[in-house]
Amino acid sequence: MAEHEHTHDHDHDHDDGHEHDELTEAEAQEQAERLLRKEIALSQIRQYGDPVLRMRADEVEAFDDELRKVSERMIGLMHDADGIGLAATQVGILRRMFVCTLDGEDHVLVNPVVTPVGDETEVDVEGCLSLGSVRVPVERVTRVTLAAQDVAGEPVALELEGLPARIVQHEVDHLEGRLMLDRSDAESRREALGRLRPRLVLTS
Ligand SMILES: [Zn+2]
Repeated sequence: MAEHEHTHDHDHDHDDGHEHDELTEAEAQEQAERLLRKEIALSQIRQYGDPVLRMRADEVEAFDDELRKVSERMIGLMHDADGIGLAATQVGILRRMFVCTLDGEDHVLVNPVVTPVGDETEVDVEGCLSLGSVRVPVERVTRVTLAAQDVAGEPVALELEGLPARIVQHEVDHLEGRLMLDRSDAESRREALGRLRPRLVLTS
């Protein structure tokens, strides 16, 4: 789902004589390469208006080499695009699987089922790699359990809270053809559609 802000680990010591916004040549090149990788990754991720984003994905039955390759490609795309979650439908594959980063660890989750724990909810702003720069507030259950399979077909059971719980709810929605816009309030949705539509007109 969400793109996360890049927080750099550089120490901003004042005594090194460098201006803060002055990049070394190596840093500037690294940044340019990262932006290029991001652009390439986003060009391979289906964008709003693509009908596949509205389709329901089917159960995965074969835990084969192809599934492994797809999941590796998706993890690569997710990182290149600065994302923390990516569902198979977003790359045009109607299979019930997604990849995500939960607390700094990458996961491939196949045939996922999310179950709320309790009824506490929280509203937070989400982004989506299929919705450009749009950000909308979405109410989600705070705590969930996730039952799924890993890429080898082994069962996975996770108890999640906060951001990780939000990520898996967002991704499972994708597998149902549901977007974060559908869960936002009417005004935020109108505003978001206003930002998305002009681009559709230009590209159609
Ligand atoms: Zn998304």
